[in-house]
Formats: sequence, C-alpha cells, structure tokens
Amino acid sequence: MIAECFLVVYIFLYFCHPIYGIMNEVQNQVKLPLSNLERKAERREIRLNADFFSLFDNSEILDAYADVVLEAKKVAETISVVVSFEGEITVPCDRCLEALAVSVRGENALSLRFGEAEDSDDWGNEEEDVMYLNRGAGEADLTVYVYESLCLAMPIQRVHGDDAEGNSLCNPEMTKYIKDS
Ligand SMILES: [Zn+2]
Repeated sequence: MIAECFLVVYIFLYFCHPIYGIMNEVQNQVKLPLSNLERKAERREIRLNADFFSLFDNSEILDAYADVVLEAKKVAETISVVVSFEGEITVPCDRCLEALAVSVRGENALSLRFGEAEDSDDWGNEEEDVMYLNRGAGEADLTVYVYESLCLAMPIQRVHGDDAEGNSLCNPEMTKYIKDS
C-alpha cells in the first residue's frame, strides 16, 4: 500500500515537474500540425533556446539559441517544408577548449510523405530529405530534423579566430597547458 502511494505521488510529481512542462512546451513548438495544410500554407516562427538543445544530451553544446522559420505547404500527396534558421551555438574551442560561439545559418528543404519508405519506388534516389509519416498522422514532429540541421550547419573546425594584429584569440594559458601536457 505504501509503495502504491509512493508510485502515485511519483507519477504526479513527474508530470507536474517544471522541467517536464518546459520540455513538452519546447518540443511542441517544433511539431507541425497537418490538418490545416489542406486549406492553406503554414508559416511558423520559433525562437529555440538552450532548453531545446538540452533535449539531446549533447555535452559539446554549452549554450545555444536559434530563430527558426518553418514554412509548409501541401502539393498533391506531399507536404513540402522549408526550414530556415539563424542562430549561435557555443561549443568548446578545438584548440584551447574555452567556450566559442559559432554562427549557424541555413535553409533546408524536407518532404513529408505518408506511408512506409518501402512504398516508394524511387526511394534511395532522393536528392532531398524525406520523412515518412504514419497515414492519418495529425502532426509532424520536426524536433530531430531541426536539431540535426542546426548541428550540421556548424563548421567542422571550431577554433577562435585572430585579432587585427593576427594574434590568436584562444586562451594562451590553456593553449600552452594543452601543448605541454
Ligand atoms: Zn580557442
């Protein structure tokens, strides 16, 4: 009986926990409702902050924000989505490990289709990104797609630049420490 009481309290606290609420809210922003697309195109502007990035448990991302615009329209059986974004992701510098804010910006096109990937004859010949949705799905969860778009927009090399005199803006003590160790 006591154990059951604990379970009820635990479940109650879990769903009322502020973090749970925030995470749900964050993720709901990136879910695209599909029901209205039969009638009109959808445009949604979202400001994503560190809460969104923390959904993915990537310890490399120290801080981040991004302004994302989702534009969706339905043409025949396909929903075309354009994801444009502009923001900043703070990661450790490759050279000195101190925080480095890198700008990310880009525009990706995604097609949403209904059914299984195997249904499609031309699967594998796609040049565009395609996401398959269950038939009758009421919304498309673009959380992973948007996250990956932002991460892939980061430069491969993430190093502090130089100042006007050509001196590295890396933390010199850290650079020396890493070189010596
Ligand atoms: Zn650096």
